[in-house]
Amino acid sequence: MATLKINNLTKTYPNGVKALNNVSIEIENGMFGLLGPNGAGKSSLMRTLATLQEADGGTAMLDDIDIFNNPKELRRNLGYLPQEFGVYPRITAEQLLDHMCILKGITNSSERKELVKYLLDKVNLFDKRNKSVKGFSGGMKQRVGIAQALIGNPKLIIVDEPTAGLDPGERNRFYNLLAEIGKEVIIILSTHIVDDVRELCTKMAVMNAGRIVYQGNPQNAIDELDGKVYQRIVAREELESFANKYSIISNKMVGGLPLIHVFSETNLDNGFELVKPNLEDVFFSKINTSNVLV
Ligand code: ADP
Repeated sequence: MATLKINNLTKTYPNGVKALNNVSIEIENGMFGLLGPNGAGKSSLMRTLATLQEADGGTAMLDDIDIFNNPKELRRNLGYLPQEFGVYPRITAEQLLDHMCILKGITNSSERKELVKYLLDKVNLFDKRNKSVKGFSGGMKQRVGIAQALIGNPKLIIVDEPTAGLDPGERNRFYNLLAEIGKEVIIILSTHIVDDVRELCTKMAVMNAGRIVYQGNPQNAIDELDGKVYQRIVAREELESFANKYSIISNKMVGGLPLIHVFSETNLDNGFELVKPNLEDVFFSKINTSNVLV
């Protein structure tokens, strides 16, 4: 069982943006969802943990590895799948993984051969091993990305927005693969897609404007909202007055009209209907929803 402890991490970019504002989280084996809107600071946190950039302050420990004081040791225990997993042109899946094994220091060629076969099998691409990765679908590329992230038996795997651009079938296969791997290691899944977290993660954090605004179990967060979320269809021109009067947590179009979800501790009438809250309600209620009318 591995544990990642992040304490009071801060990062301000030279342009003054405070991307990490006292971030503290503790994460154990399994799939951990880091959910936040674009610009929340997720990638900044992931890149910092992957030792690709430095924090201004704070600590991070992966078991007994002090990540910032011992980045080399961290990298030996890290698998990283960045947002865009770039591949070399005209290289087969097998060649690519073989090459990545060399980069990760596996010099013995028979050991490498064995490992590449194991990895291709694990991500269900063994049949495609002699095909050029460049011609792969988005989902297949992501599976190659996961295969390379598994080289060296990492304790920590970071996947940054992995499902963007995948069709539903590919997404499901990718989810299943992650869920299986997540039994043995820590996987941090950084995403702005609520479904990714709902389907995969038993623990999560919500991040907004550089801060962790919630951490815990997705179902507990949903239960906390039970009996407090109401919905109503409104006319477009009424939106603003509703926004002034109620605490709107989300607004989506249904049949051309805005369907709003509203948070309220007290009973609402005036055409409102109590609804079962979902993870999307959690997400929107935790983040600053000032852009809800946009
Ligand atoms: P997310 O991954 O949640 O979308 P990021 O970590 O990419 O968020 O960005 C957090 C904030 O920091 C954003 O306001 C973004 O514009 C800013 N930012 C990210 N990287 C840099 C950088 N290299 N220089 C300056 N600002 C940055």
